Amino acid sequence: MTELDDRIAEPVTVDAGLRCLTAPNPSPMTGPGTNTYIVGHGPYVIVDPGVDDESHLEALMAACDGEIVAICLTHRHPDHVGGAGWLAERTGAPIRAWPKPELGHHDRPVHIHRPLAEGEVLAAGETSLVVRHTPGHAADHVAFELPGVGILVAGDALMSDATVVILPPDGDMGAYFSTLERLAQLALTRIAPAHGRIIEQPGHAIAEVLAHRRRRESQVMASLASDQVRTVEAIADRLYPQLHDRLRTMAALQVQAHLLHLAAQGRAVDEGRGWRSA
Ligand SMILES: [Zn+2]
Repeated sequence: MTELDDRIAEPVTVDAGLRCLTAPNPSPMTGPGTNTYIVGHGPYVIVDPGVDDESHLEALMAACDGEIVAICLTHRHPDHVGGAGWLAERTGAPIRAWPKPELGHHDRPVHIHRPLAEGEVLAAGETSLVVRHTPGHAADHVAFELPGVGILVAGDALMSDATVVILPPDGDMGAYFSTLERLAQLALTRIAPAHGRIIEQPGHAIAEVLAHRRRRESQVMASLASDQVRTVEAIADRLYPQLHDRLRTMAALQVQAHLLHLAAQGRAVDEGRGWRSA
């Protein structure tokens, strides 16, 4: 028997009208697994159905008595959308996501029944969710604010104990900075991320992530000189010297995301064979 078989497939109560059921897909990229959120007291709205795992989806159905009125996706990465089709078929509930005419490299194609709009209010019975477009991790990324309790169901916009990966071009560091600044303006008491634990001090957590990103950006800037070019890989090796091979590509893409943001600000130039400061 593996550890996974021992997993208690029971939703955990986060607050009144918000429960979390973690899907059985733990990995270095997904932490303990994708958190599926069940919003409302019935009928329910599901945020991120998670992977296409029957035990997970059956546990979700049982937790909702099959009373699901909408299946919302924070974005189209496979660990978030995998179970959407199965759940829609079983419940007849529409799949809702931010419109995206062209899929990103890491997206999974999924049939969207109705697009989401900025500020749209969704009803899960008496509980309401407000749609917030939060691009950065992905261009179509949205988060859901529960104004009654001040909780943000944040998808991959923020994580506890991990840095959000920004993979260009679908991931955009400039957009991510703006998203964090906008989220800092919301009156939040807690953040419910798609990976890891509930974030208890949202203001503090957002400020920390912003500071971390600004620090990284200055490090990238400092590793560039105006009279010579440096490759993305060379900068990544300097900034992340201890990295396991498996994560090097990821680190290089993070550096590239910062470089593209610096270029958009006129602070760095892509010379083709490498980058230099402007
Ligand atoms: Zn993602």
